[in-house]
Amino acid sequence: MTLSDDAGLPRSANEAATLLADAALPAAILEVAQTLHAAGHEVVLVGGAVRDFLLGRAHGDWDLASAATPEEVMRLFPRTIPTGIEHGTVTVICGRGRDRVTTEITTFRGEGGYTDGRRPSEVRFLRALVDDLARRDFTVNAMAFNPLTKVFTDVFGGLEDLRAGVIRAVGEPSARLREDGLRAMRAVRLCATLGYRLDAATAAAISGALDILDRVSRERVQVEMTKLLGAPRPSRGLWPMLETGMWGHVLADYERGSIEAAIEAVDRLPANATLRLARLLWPMRAAPAGIEAVLDGRLRPSRDDRLRVLALTRARNEALLTVDDPARIRREVAALGRDLLSDALALLDADPPTRSRIEGACAGAALTAAEMAIGGRDLLAEKIVPPGPAMGRLLSALLVQVIEAPRRNEREALLAAARALVAEELTSGRGG
Ligand code: ATP
Ligand code: MG
Repeated sequence: MTLSDDAGLPRSANEAATLLADAALPAAILEVAQTLHAAGHEVVLVGGAVRDFLLGRAHGDWDLASAATPEEVMRLFPRTIPTGIEHGTVTVICGRGRDRVTTEITTFRGEGGYTDGRRPSEVRFLRALVDDLARRDFTVNAMAFNPLTKVFTDVFGGLEDLRAGVIRAVGEPSARLREDGLRAMRAVRLCATLGYRLDAATAAAISGALDILDRVSRERVQVEMTKLLGAPRPSRGLWPMLETGMWGHVLADYERGSIEAAIEAVDRLPANATLRLARLLWPMRAAPAGIEAVLDGRLRPSRDDRLRVLALTRARNEALLTVDDPARIRREVAALGRDLLSDALALLDADPPTRSRIEGACAGAALTAAEMAIGGRDLLAEKIVPPGPAMGRLLSALLVQVIEAPRRNEREALLAAARALVAEELTSGRGG
């Protein structure tokens, strides 16, 4: 990390407290804190929101921690969702319209004897808070800020790691990484989204917890992978993913050199997680079953994204780079799907002459039945063919002609061609 990168970061806990005290917390969050405080529950902002505030980055979700139990939180606020009661988490909805904010309030994890009905002493509160922070995943995520007292709590060196750009487990790394397999994914994802490096002991602990990673639900792995691939430079998370041995547990083990080339290539692609995933799997294009195994067994992309990755990783797309014949280019683009063309060209790292050759071949040309100058309705009105499979076959045959010669995409020419095709079919004895 260069000097200019951390120039805006607080250099001490005092500076951090001042910065956070000046931070513009949403009024609704302050109100939630006040309500909890008035009911006798001290409350702090924790996790990613504190981290991102210190970094001067926008953060989407607000995590509060307090001694209040989920039941108490639900009694205090009219609009709540029991998002994770078993983990002590309740979502509170506050404000309306543009000021609507949701916040997740979690009961301090793993503390005993704190909630005995009396307003607790500061010392007991701090003990419960430190207990909670000790159970969080990484030091940069284990800082807390009390928005009412303006006290900043950082007992695990989070600020130092934030300044150094390091993702480090809280406490003993191997125990923490084996406790929860998702943490390995979160570690490399945070490396990518923050542009940080992985602390060496934490990396070693990940390598020792790959069997635990295997047990994490694919949906949760997918969520982290999507965040990682959406980062400005995914390689910051992909290199540690490779070095720790996670690669084969999240994707698949293929030839090291092509993995390295793929990692370098994704940073240059548009920030589109699906396209970037396709680029990572591109080296396996000769074995599509391997790609399907990743998409169906390791990750859990949406149906649409799955199809897009499969289309983008078809080996035949490569022909786009070398084919000169405009009709052949149009056939390839039609087979791929025009909406995927720009992603495919980015994945193939097509140069400007190639791009203009392809654009030239496709400009104004119909590549799908919907883009043709006539449709089933015209064939029906002209009594050329009744609805049914014959009509579908006829439209496909016309599309082939139009892709071959775009100027044939004109109403009268197409109707004539349709009549000719029907007559041909009749004389060849196959009928309609
Ligand atoms: P972002 O919101 O940018 O995805 P985040 O760090 O805020 O990142 P959340 O999922 O919102 O992630 O989690 C909020 C906080 O909860 C984290 O900052 C961390 O302190 C804690 N946390 C989340 N997941 C885990 C986990 N698997 N193990 C331990 N602590 C966790
Ligand atoms: Mg968060």
